[in-house]
Amino acid sequence: MSYVDEIYNYVVEKNPAQPEFHQAVKEVLESLRVVIEANEEEYRKDALLERLVTPERQILFRVPWVDDKGQVQVNNGFRVQFNSAIGPYKGGLRFHPSVNLGIIKFLGFEQIFKNSLTSLPIGGGKGGSDFDPKGKSDREVMAFCQSFMTELHRHIGADTDVPAGDIGVGGREIGFLYGQYKRIKDVYEGVLTGKGLTYGGSLARTQATGYGLVYITQELLKDHNNDLAGKTVVVSGAGNVAIYAIEKAQQLGAKVVTCSDSTGWIYDPEGIDVALLKEVKEVKRARLSEYAAARKSAEYHEKKNGEHGVWNVKCDVALPCATQNELDLDDAKALVANGVVAVCEGANMPSTIEATKYLQDNGVLFICGKASNAGGVATSALEMSQNSERLSWTFEEVDNKLQGIMVNIYKSISEAAKKYGKEGDYVAGANIAGFLKVAEAMKAQGIV
Ligand code: NDP
Repeated sequence: MSYVDEIYNYVVEKNPAQPEFHQAVKEVLESLRVVIEANEEEYRKDALLERLVTPERQILFRVPWVDDKGQVQVNNGFRVQFNSAIGPYKGGLRFHPSVNLGIIKFLGFEQIFKNSLTSLPIGGGKGGSDFDPKGKSDREVMAFCQSFMTELHRHIGADTDVPAGDIGVGGREIGFLYGQYKRIKDVYEGVLTGKGLTYGGSLARTQATGYGLVYITQELLKDHNNDLAGKTVVVSGAGNVAIYAIEKAQQLGAKVVTCSDSTGWIYDPEGIDVALLKEVKEVKRARLSEYAAARKSAEYHEKKNGEHGVWNVKCDVALPCATQNELDLDDAKALVANGVVAVCEGANMPSTIEATKYLQDNGVLFICGKASNAGGVATSALEMSQNSERLSWTFEEVDNKLQGIMVNIYKSISEAAKKYGKEGDYVAGANIAGFLKVAEAMKAQGIV
């Protein structure tokens, strides 16, 4: 059996009941096959792949907190420190009821390659909790965050592990987490990114993942003698990534006609009104039905089981920005039938393996999340640099750096794909380019 197949079986056997983690490993290993086969003897001897798929450290902890009725609640907390070969662990915290160890491991594993692609010195990690911030008062969210940090603080630090936000963790949560860290450790350091601008945050970090996604999409289209201007775009999600992807795509002349949340989706043929969307989702934290109620041109569709409405809308470009496995084979077929030209992932692993293959086999330009959403973590790394320097850069400085990073990521995934005989396969390109740097660093550092 080949080393790649052996390792996939090893992962399934050692990590039972973690299907998202198996899926993420399978996708990466499949596209690394050509590189691994060329170095099989050396990698086997060093157990390089066994080490790559095994987190350096996994921290699981209890998070007790008191709700507004005086009732004690208990959640599970996770931090997976996956790989520190090229820098301190870096990756977000996700607060969502679906969070479990397998989900955090899939996200942490992807993060290793994504962080490597940014060309900045950051390793891979991820964390979170099955706590659901939805419907909780600010005091309850604070109580939870303080309890979460009371355990997490001993495992993180500006040069060790630097968490950030993800689903369910935005500016409010980062503020509460940072306050508790500082109170316990008595140090003012850049231990979290995505901080508020008054206490060490970076300009353009809020926009970075969505803007970066659109910058790389534009670069991809330009490389294929095309342009975002005048294109119809469908976006899923209505959170941090989706909102700023919509904003930047519209600034570049595209018309974005959809967005979605966990209860339904919007079709707005006149183009999404970003200011209204921000008001509904960022300020009021309300459902998308409120967007439709305030805008004549918008249709609201309640989410029905198993249906992912936005992918049935005719478009040139699709940007999935909500969550994992939200774009399946049927959705991919609908997109192709409607003539989609490019699909670039804003979320982590939003397309199933079958959907990705179908899109690629049908000539759709496809960039996977670990390349196309890397602008968020790259800008977090820029926040770390500013914190170390005790300086703040202007919005334009950070945004220019972000654009440069996204253009470089496109170049490096495109060249890696070409070099290994897979021209135009940007999934293979991303996995290969991300892997080679990490593998080289692991080799240089010996058996650790
Ligand atoms: P947010 O919490 O800000 O927004 C998530 C959006 O997706 C919301 O609209 C939410 O709906 C919807 N959503 C979440 N879970 C589900 C679900 N199970 N079913 C349907 N809809 C769902 O998160 P982000 O925008 O930060 O993250 C979105 C994706 O982007 C995630 O995959 C994340 O890992 C990835 N990502 C985020 C980065 C960042 O910088 N924030 C960086 C790189 C990747 P509702 O409003 O109802 O909650």
